[in-house]
Amino acid sequence: KPTYKIIVLGSGGVGKSAITIQFVKSFFFSDYDPTIEDSYVKQCLIDNQIAQLEILDSAGQEEFKPMRDQYVRVGEGFLLVFSLTDRRSLEECYKLHRDILRIKETDNVPILLIGNKLDIRQNGMDTYVHAAATNMHIPYFETSARTRHNIDEIFIELVRLIRKN
Ligand code: GDP
Ligand code: MG
Repeated sequence: KPTYKIIVLGSGGVGKSAITIQFVKSFFFSDYDPTIEDSYVKQCLIDNQIAQLEILDSAGQEEFKPMRDQYVRVGEGFLLVFSLTDRRSLEECYKLHRDILRIKETDNVPILLIGNKLDIRQNGMDTYVHAAATNMHIPYFETSARTRHNIDEIFIELVRLIRKN
């Protein structure tokens, strides 16, 4: 059965683990250990085709950069997550995006930009966010791991992009 290797990337504290656990286990884990990096498997039916998603919830990428390069190489699709409460976390996504394209040596990589914490968003970030998504040429979604808003949708959309790639 077709397997899709998905990597969740972004600054610490943006909600990578909360998104992953909400998707895989359907609950909001509000105080997951920020240092734990783990992978999860979930089987889904997407557009009437079985898909086995292997999801790596990354952590501590600053200190372990060589390791990150390694899993970017094996990853097939990427969720670049920032927090709608933190502009610096959006800037980190630019860097991660550049790194992914450099490591993959192609512009043709399935990547989504994810603005998380929609339930507590701060006003005034919209213009930066839309500019970022346009500059990176990647689709943009807003999520809340807390309310589960758009959580299934981002994984489904990423699998569709991988299938088309
Ligand atoms: P990670 O370091 O990127 O894995 O971030 P975590 O998933 O550990 O989340 C960091 C903090 O943000 C935790 O306190 C979570 O409870 C909180 N958090 C994550 N996602 C959301 C969300 O969508 N809404 C709100 N209000 N809090 C969130
Ligand atoms: Mg985490």
